[in-house]
Amino acid sequence: MKDSILVINCGSSSLKFAILSNAGQDTLVEGIADRLGTEESSITFKFEGEKKSMLLEDGSHKSAVAHIKDWLSDHPAIARALAGIGHRVVHGGETFSQSVLIDSNVLNGIKECAQFAPLHNPAHIKGIEIAFELFPGLPQVAVFDTAFHQTLAAEQYLYPIPMHFYRQHHFRKYGFHGTSYRYISQRLAQLVARSDQQGVLVAHLGNGASVCAISKGLSVDTSMGITPLEGLMMGTRSGSIDPSLLSFISQAENISADAALDVLNKKSGLLGVSEISNDCRTLEEAMASGDQRAKLALDMFAVRTAKHLASMATTLESIDHLVFTGGIGENSSYLRHVICDHLKALNIRIDSTLNENAPRGGTTSINSATSATKVWIIPTNEELMIALDTISLISH
Ligand code: ADP
Repeated sequence: MKDSILVINCGSSSLKFAILSNAGQDTLVEGIADRLGTEESSITFKFEGEKKSMLLEDGSHKSAVAHIKDWLSDHPAIARALAGIGHRVVHGGETFSQSVLIDSNVLNGIKECAQFAPLHNPAHIKGIEIAFELFPGLPQVAVFDTAFHQTLAAEQYLYPIPMHFYRQHHFRKYGFHGTSYRYISQRLAQLVARSDQQGVLVAHLGNGASVCAISKGLSVDTSMGITPLEGLMMGTRSGSIDPSLLSFISQAENISADAALDVLNKKSGLLGVSEISNDCRTLEEAMASGDQRAKLALDMFAVRTAKHLASMATTLESIDHLVFTGGIGENSSYLRHVICDHLKALNIRIDSTLNENAPRGGTTSINSATSATKVWIIPTNEELMIALDTISLISH
């Protein structure tokens, strides 16, 4: 039976992939091609618990997809079951409010949205074009990070700037991590009957981090904006700051506005404050050995996350659930603890023992008995959503 989906997340210098079968429940093979565009690029396959890596001759995206095709010809049973390809696409603008089967119109639409995601969308287009070339005849689907947030009301998505910028240029909040939020909302509905009729806050905390308010299953507010720079402090991004800093930084360093923006995107956040690393685990280790800069960076991350969660709550009638997800949300008991400590005024309380002993990679609730809000750790699964959307669209 043809029931497997190849999921591709094609970035500018990496290409992540996975083949999911059994309605997305089983991952048959997964891997990553990284350092694309350099001489050290390689591709790694993880299959039946074993990892195998090989160098990519010319470091191109095309040779990465060609290796996946070669691997499939060595595994004909998996190749025969392949029914379609699902692509993660970061920016769908106002054009795409749900996943779509890709044709030339859709490809043009993704190209038009590239103005807001100049690094991501062109890489996705490349991935899609290569997949059409190397897997002719297989239907392909695009799943957008922005789509879930297309339900935001105008007063949430508009920026308070002259309206002609929105009318002529579509400058507005789009939000990201939407595929993850949609998964969490559906997973929560499996865990708690009627949670899709309640108010939910989700903190997707990874190297990129954002929060989202979900009411009755729909996104009603989210912290990222026209690009992923807005909102929380992140691994290397500043998140929201006084916009005047952009011009102060460019004057102080005698650099262009674009170069100053690069400082906010790539040299700020946990990395900029700690002056050690963008990686939460590394900073927790440094903090444990007494490094005060690492502690300051982590505590700033927590405070700012809590503030954004509190502001998101203004869109809800009640905060019935708070969910932590993403690499940091799922694994850092320290940050979950400090974030929730700053949310006491909202009657959100966690149980320290449950928080510290949460099973790695598992779904669990960590709120104390007195908490007004149920607090959860739920591992996200964007690949599953992409596979399910692909199955649903290609079987119509
Ligand atoms: P992204 O998908 O945005 O690249 P991830 O969701 O994979 O990021 O999250 C990466 C972050 O999760 C890193 O900062 C990493 O240090 C953190 N992380 C992963 N495991 C742990 C852990 N055990 N303890 C603390 N932080 C962790």
